[in-house]
Amino acid sequence: MKKKYKIIMISLIAVIVLGIGIVVGNSWHTKTQQPKVSTTTITNSTAKGEASKEEKEALKSSEQALSEATKKVVDSANKKEEPATPQQTNQPQQKQETQQPQTQQAPTPAPVKQAVPTNNKVVCIDAGHQRYGNSAKEPIGPGATQTKAKVTTGATGIRSHRTESQINLEIALKLQRILQSRGYTVVMCRTSQDVNLSNKERADIANKAHAGAFIRLHCDSSDNQSVNGVTGLAPASGNPYLSSSIVSSSQSLTRAVVNGLCSATGAKNRGLSLVNNMSGINWTQVPVALVEMGFISNPNEDANLTNDAYQEKVANGIANGIASFLH
Ligand SMILES: [Zn+2]
Repeated sequence: MKKKYKIIMISLIAVIVLGIGIVVGNSWHTKTQQPKVSTTTITNSTAKGEASKEEKEALKSSEQALSEATKKVVDSANKKEEPATPQQTNQPQQKQETQQPQTQQAPTPAPVKQAVPTNNKVVCIDAGHQRYGNSAKEPIGPGATQTKAKVTTGATGIRSHRTESQINLEIALKLQRILQSRGYTVVMCRTSQDVNLSNKERADIANKAHAGAFIRLHCDSSDNQSVNGVTGLAPASGNPYLSSSIVSSSQSLTRAVVNGLCSATGAKNRGLSLVNNMSGINWTQVPVALVEMGFISNPNEDANLTNDAYQEKVANGIANGIASFLH
């Protein structure tokens, strides 16, 4: 009995301990691991699922936002460039608008750039172009929105195959010597092929020199080889960048130079071409003349303009024209 009792007691205790153990184990399991694992996995899985969806959506939307933002940035950058010109245009346009009525009302308009005082004993010579052009842009005049290449390479002689910049320089150096011998102070924009001078910078040289005459030497070119003769380029009346006095004095100077050149050489006088889109003219604040000394696309004129004696005649004729203008 005692043994039986003992066995029963031990088995009872064992059962109780086991039972407690299972209960505790289960409760422990459910309390700690199960919920933890299940909830975390569930929440994780749902969170992951949702988050992945959300993240994807968020990613998508952020990507969209980013692309929209970059688009906006690009747009605004583009717009910045676009309006930058309109803004610049607006300002001069407003200036022009306010000035135009003034021009209409007042007989002497307020020019965008005032003429500088000039010295009739000073001549500035610009041998057009240079060995290498500079395609960087500059405004075609003070306050202008339209831009042009700073300086181009120029034409090439059809027969001589010599560059316009070289021919212009040769005649410019002859003109310099002739004018100096006549007592003028001559300021040269360039005496070498290897310069980098924009058309505006050349005008600035003439302005700083207070030149009584700014002579820009060029050779003409045409697809039609038979075209020949001398043309003067001068600003037209109503040029928005120049005072009316500079416009009229430039026209007089150009006419005098073209007439002088043609009477000295016998070249065909093609008269004046009045233009308002030439940077080198529009930036000038002194009387300016651009002379196309002949067509190097014409075999005969190309031969003449590359001939030393003819160049001397051209230079003398131009000097005569300058002298008659400056008297
Ligand atoms: Zn030219």
